[in-house]
Amino acid sequence: MKITILTLFPKVFKGFFSTSIPSRAIDKKLISVKYLDFRKFAEDKHHKCDDEPYGGGAGLILKPEPLFKALHSIKAENKRVIYPTPSGKLFTEDKAYELSKENELIFIAGHYEGMDQRVIDTFVTDELSIGDYVLSSGETATLVMIDAIYRLIEGVITPESLDEESFVNGLLEYPLYTRPYEYEGQKVPDILLSGDHAKIKEWRNTKRLEKTRANRIDLYRKFKKSKLSVKG
Ligand code: SAM
Repeated sequence: MKITILTLFPKVFKGFFSTSIPSRAIDKKLISVKYLDFRKFAEDKHHKCDDEPYGGGAGLILKPEPLFKALHSIKAENKRVIYPTPSGKLFTEDKAYELSKENELIFIAGHYEGMDQRVIDTFVTDELSIGDYVLSSGETATLVMIDAIYRLIEGVITPESLDEESFVNGLLEYPLYTRPYEYEGQKVPDILLSGDHAKIKEWRNTKRLEKTRANRIDLYRKFKKSKLSVKG
């Protein structure tokens, strides 16, 4: 997957993509990441990318010209262009799966109060929010989305790791344990050491239901209404 990020602050991304799983995905050529600093496309002598809002109000708005020019330069017309914004539709695991099937994604990391609506009307295919809160910039929201998407691309992580994760079948993940067996007086549930895979699966399914009910009653109710079985 080819990922292009339009940003005024490419440095924000570089640490993430140079470590651990993302850097391995790049080495294996499963993803490529390109940064496009759209300030370069601002033609006035100060390379100004923002201006005051028409109609008054607080803050600054990203100007259309540098963004139009940057997007035209990568032929973004008719490509999947994502604008992370709190006023977008909610970004979910299902959306991450859908986007992980694309060959190319373009992200526009917003800043200040947002960007000129004409950029959205001309290029943006998906306005997506990562949650009901307001961040100071689109760089972090872009990273959250890319992180959720690229790990679903075949070959990035082992397929088994994705099988029983949170949101698979609409439920949250069961509790996880590793060695040592006992730590500060707390023992690992004995069922996990029993070697009885059917019983372990049953225990995990019960825990998934309990956890979903306790932490996400909305998901639990949806699951109960659906015809899905906890067994997958
Ligand atoms: N004026 C905007 C509003 O009220 O909807 C908020 C702008 S916010 C201060 C600056 C930038 O951060 C946005 O343009 C967007 O790119 C990003 N951002 C903030 N919160 C976000 C969220 N929940 N999801 C996705 N992007 C977000």
